[in-house]
Amino acid sequence: MDWNDTPQQAEFRSNVRAFLQDRLPAYYKDHELRRHLDSGLENDWQQDLHNGTPDQQAAAKEWAMALAERGWGQPHWPKEHGGASLTPFDQFILKQEFAIAEAPEIGGSLIGSTLLVHGTEEQKQRFLAPTLTGELRWAQGFSEPGAGSDLGSLQCRAVRDGDEYVINGQKLWTSAGHKANWIFGLFRTDPDAPKHRGISFLVLDATTPGVSVRPIISMGWEHATNETFYEDVRVPAANLIGEQNRGWYVGMTLLDYERSGIGGAVAHRRNMDELVANVKTDATPNRASLVKNEIVDRYVESEVMYNLALRVASMHAAGTLPNYEASMGKLYSTELAQRVARTGMKAFGLYAHLWSPAEPLAPLHAKHTQASCHTVVGTIAGGSNEIQRNIIATRGLGLPRG
Ligand SMILES: Cc1cc2nc3c(=O)[nH]c(=O)nc-3n(C[C@H](O)[C@H](O)[C@H](O)COP(=O)(O)OP(=O)(O)OC[C@H]3O[C@@H](n4cnc5c(N)ncnc54)[C@H](O)[C@@H]3O)c2cc1C
Repeated sequence: MDWNDTPQQAEFRSNVRAFLQDRLPAYYKDHELRRHLDSGLENDWQQDLHNGTPDQQAAAKEWAMALAERGWGQPHWPKEHGGASLTPFDQFILKQEFAIAEAPEIGGSLIGSTLLVHGTEEQKQRFLAPTLTGELRWAQGFSEPGAGSDLGSLQCRAVRDGDEYVINGQKLWTSAGHKANWIFGLFRTDPDAPKHRGISFLVLDATTPGVSVRPIISMGWEHATNETFYEDVRVPAANLIGEQNRGWYVGMTLLDYERSGIGGAVAHRRNMDELVANVKTDATPNRASLVKNEIVDRYVESEVMYNLALRVASMHAAGTLPNYEASMGKLYSTELAQRVARTGMKAFGLYAHLWSPAEPLAPLHAKHTQASCHTVVGTIAGGSNEIQRNIIATRGLGLPRG
């Protein structure tokens, strides 16, 4: 397989690089500053836009305006809705170069892609533009206490009452639910139908009376996700996406957006390069030799991940939909992230106990120490790795179910 760019792809790539050089605000180019400020977490453009200091807000707006000029905020969206109608491989290149430059992405891709396929014209007009500008900050309400891997068992009820639905029940793991101003979710509208056929897809204003959000604090003291409760929440029927009771199919819409995992693959490479550079310059006797073999293993694995990402991207480019191949990328990347964190911790010995990125003695701003906690959830969120293994076993290898 030849992974080199074609002449057109090389031209597009150099275009993207020039754009990043010219238009990425200085604030986002200062990676040291951002790592120090944001506790080692990923860039969060929404966070900067809504809750940032005046400088962060200005940078977030400047970046959004630069992206809007080219439709690169949501490059897979059609031009008439503010996207760029890029081909899958150009999306891949764009995402790859943005990840290398650590340029923040604009959120809302999941709901946007779903609306493009299933929304009415009125819904597209109403929701797409404000999603692009960051005015709408979305959270996903799918999972429930008894419905995660087996999502079809969800129980949160939406009952039609005139021009409204009335929602009662609970959602779990609503990431960013405490920051979101809109929620998209799956709700049971027909309890008597076979379980996948009685579900509807609704969007709602998160400030509607009756919606309450309770934090879930992770083992890394991070407030990223929540429990969400619905008590007689009245949602206009105009907020139904697709048909009533056909929401399962809306929720499972295969997104055309490039989902190769290239962002994670670039981050793994960067982490390894940083770790190698750090270990090489450290004069502690025997330090490098203690972890050298592990570092080599992680380095090779990060290259494997890169190739898995390229495989998924090339399938999109060829017009085929990745299936178990995307599961392989998710499985490999999330487990690799945990292994890299452990190797990084080992390399720093007792200094790996320092938790705060602002602590001057914390190596690499405590990145690996933080990651040792934050990467745990990666193998659960977005479909657990056991489920990914089931997909690879049955669809990839043709092994029997059960
Ligand atoms: C940090 C985080 C953020 C999340 N964000 C969101 C969000 O924003 N919105 C949202 O809707 N959801 C979100 N989720 C929910 C996520 O999709 C579910 O946690 C995930 O699908 C697993 O479901 P569960 O937690 O109910 O576990 P279960 O489905 O109860 O699984 C428990 C264990 O059993 C295993 N298991 C289950 N079924 C099988 C099977 N058939 N074969 C083999 N093993 C199996 C699982 O792998 C797991 O180890 C988030 C989860 C986390 C941890």
